[in-house]
Order: sequence, then structure tokens, then C-alpha cells
Amino acid sequence: MKKKIAVIGGGIVGSTASYYLAKAGHSVSVFDSGTGQATAAAAGIICPWLSRRRNKKWYRLVSEGAAFYDKLLADLASDGLKTAAYARCGALILGQSADYIQEVHDRAMERREQAPLIGNVAILKGTELKKIFPPLSNVEQALYVGGGARVDGRELTKTLLQATTQFGGTIHKETVSLANDNDGTLAVLMPVGPQKFDAIILAAGAWLPQILQPLGYTVDVRGQKGQLVVLQTEDNDPQNYPVIMPQGEIDLLPFGHGKTVIGASHENDKGYDLQPDASVTDPMLEQAYTWLPQLKDAVTTEIRVGTRAYTSDFSPFFGRVPGLQNCFAASGLGSSGLTSGPLIGYLLAELAQGKESSLPTEDYPIATYVKLVGR
Ligand SMILES: Cc1cc2nc3c(=O)[nH]c(=O)nc-3n(C[C@H](O)[C@H](O)[C@H](O)COP(=O)(O)OP(=O)(O)OC[C@H]3O[C@@H](n4cnc5c(N)ncnc54)[C@H](O)[C@@H]3O)c2cc1C
Repeated sequence: MKKKIAVIGGGIVGSTASYYLAKAGHSVSVFDSGTGQATAAAAGIICPWLSRRRNKKWYRLVSEGAAFYDKLLADLASDGLKTAAYARCGALILGQSADYIQEVHDRAMERREQAPLIGNVAILKGTELKKIFPPLSNVEQALYVGGGARVDGRELTKTLLQATTQFGGTIHKETVSLANDNDGTLAVLMPVGPQKFDAIILAAGAWLPQILQPLGYTVDVRGQKGQLVVLQTEDNDPQNYPVIMPQGEIDLLPFGHGKTVIGASHENDKGYDLQPDASVTDPMLEQAYTWLPQLKDAVTTEIRVGTRAYTSDFSPFFGRVPGLQNCFAASGLGSSGLTSGPLIGYLLAELAQGKESSLPTEDYPIATYVKLVGR
């Protein structure tokens, strides 16, 4: 049966959910204020298999999330929408010692048994390394992981929202809120007045607390500022070089045709602040010059700033909002949200249609983070 569904938030989670819902024939309205959107700020790396994190449920979400990209891109292509937002370009892991590189190599080999998408794994040196990434300097050896990918979050959501409208969905650049009606159902408060929906998806990222608190909920989600720098050189090489993941905080993402992204900061104390801050980005650039000195001649075309959502134990969650029948939410995707986000959006779309979620919701329990305490 065709349902009338509202999706609040048009980042990676909301735009994927809205695409699959509209494609399934539902009447979808997406509301997105766009302010501070993490997805639009992120030029992200999809390479979750090397993490030291031991949380198995989190690992399942990010590794299946990375694999889900194949389905998402194939579905978009079958709907006539090809996108260059995603490229499986491989990843080069740099370390301060040979022991570190060996340790990550061994972990990748072990995890490849369960996740063949990891692809070719090899420690590269000298001419082998030069061949795979000629401009790379001051690196003796690196670990190559063939399945690593990069995605431009802003471009991908643009395509997903375009696909949503192709199936009859509507996109509203508006900030909306929710109200509990006397009959116990929810209404979306739009500038034109309250509107009822058969189901509501809250894909509001770091702003989930602001939506649910007025309804009497506490939400264990905080904002974290992330900044990255977009650089442009005159180099017109179209090559899809691997992304570079040095040990430490920053990553370097070559996008071809002279565009390189350096990111990203993780600023807990700055929360929802959206001001570019050179005292944070300049040291990131200095570090990047170590490996790609030619970037010293690049022009900074943009500093992207976005707000990531974190829970107090760094775990993402999704599912039905406790106490509300037809309202579903996800948040807390943290710094791996471009990796898990499309899959989570798909799972929310399943739930909103009254289906079972393909991944067990009890492994990512919303009730741990979203609690009804009353007004
Ligand atoms: C600089 C940076 C680099 C990153 N790099 C990576 C990476 O390399 N790999 C990786 O996997 N992940 C990365 N991430 C993390 C990833 O981008 C996020 O986890 C993910 O995009 C979150 O998606 P989301 O849809 O949950 O939230 P968002 O993308 O934040 O979307 C939420 C949307 O909801 C809107 N909204 C909120 N409240 C309302 C309301 N009341 N009404 C209407 N709209 C509303 C917001 O304005 C926003 O547009 C990075 C993030 C940043 C900031």
C-alpha cells in the first residue's frame, strides 16, 4: 500500500532512505535545512576494515555498509543515474614504523576472509610504490588496500535526491519540527501548517536532540566539528590515485584533475560551531606537504565545515523511536557515517514500510540513546 512518508534530514541517511522509499512507490517528502550537514562537508574514505576497534556490531555495520555501495550504485544506474561521486581507487596506509605497517597488513589479511571486498593487500616499497602514486614523497613503504574507496558526500546526496524526485518525491529546504497531537499521533510542523504522515523518518544527524527534546525525550547525541580543506593545483592528471591514510588524524584524498582534499579535524569542544578556523587547518596542511610537497603551490578553493553526531559510547543507532508507532530515527554515525550511512538509510526505509530490518535493530538499540522522560 502506498504510504505518505516524511523524511527529516537530507544527508546520506535521509537521502538514501527517501530514494528507496520513492522507488518503492511511496509518496515521499524530504525536509532538509542543510545547515551544518556532515555529509555535505565530508569527502570521505570508505575503508573500514583496518580499524583497531573491537566492537563486532559496529564492524558488521561498517563492513556491510562499505559493501552496500555496490547495490546503491547499481540501483541508481538502473534508474538512469550514473555518478562519479564514488570511486574504488584503493587506499595507501602510511605508518611511522615498519611494525605498524605489518600489524595493519596482518589485520587486513585476517579480515579479508570475511570481507573479500578488501581486495588486493600488499606492502609496497620503492618503484612499486612510485608506480602506484608517482607524486608521493618521503615514504619508504606503505600498505596498499585495493578495496579502499572515496566518496564525495555532497555529490552523492545530490544524485540520491534527484533520484527521489524522479520517482515523484518532493524536497523542501525547510527546518521543521514535530508536534504530538491529541490523538497520540505526530504531525510535522511546516511553515504552511501541521501535516500528517503515515510514517516519519528522523535522519537529522547531530540535531536529533533538538527535534525530540520538545516531545519529552532525552537524546544521547552530541555534535563534533569537522573541517577539511579543498586544494586545487594546475595539474590536469585525471588519474584515480589511491587515498592516503597516514597514521594519525589527517587523510589526503586526491580527486584527479588537480583537486586534493585534506581532512579532517575532530573538534569535540567546538560542537556545532561552523566557522572555518585556520589555527586548525594550517597545521593539517603543513602535515600534508610532507607527503605531497607540490600542494604548497595549490590554491585553497574551499574549507568545508560540518557537524558529526556522536553518542557517549561512540556507537551509532537506528530503529523505531520508543513510544511512537510510526516514527523511526538514526544518529550517532560519527566519523564513519559515509561508510555506514547508505545502509542505515536503506534499513530505515525497510522499517518505515513495515518490513523487518535486514540487520537486527537490537544490535544498534535506539532505546539506549533515546529515552522518553516526559515534558
Ligand atoms: C569533515 C568531515 C569528514 C568526514 N569524513 C568521513 C570519512 O572519511 N568517512 C566516513 O565514513 N565518514 C566521514 N564523515 C562522517 C559522515 O560524514 C557523517 O557521519 C554522515 O555524513 C552523517 O550523515 P547523516 O545523514 O546522519 O547526518 P547529516 O549529513 O548531518 O544530515 C542531517 C541533515 O538533517 C538536517 N536537519 C537537522 N534537523 C533538521 C530539521 N529540524 N529540519 C530539517 N532538516 C534538519 C541537517 O541540516 C542536515 O542537513 C566525515 C564528516 C565530516 C564532518
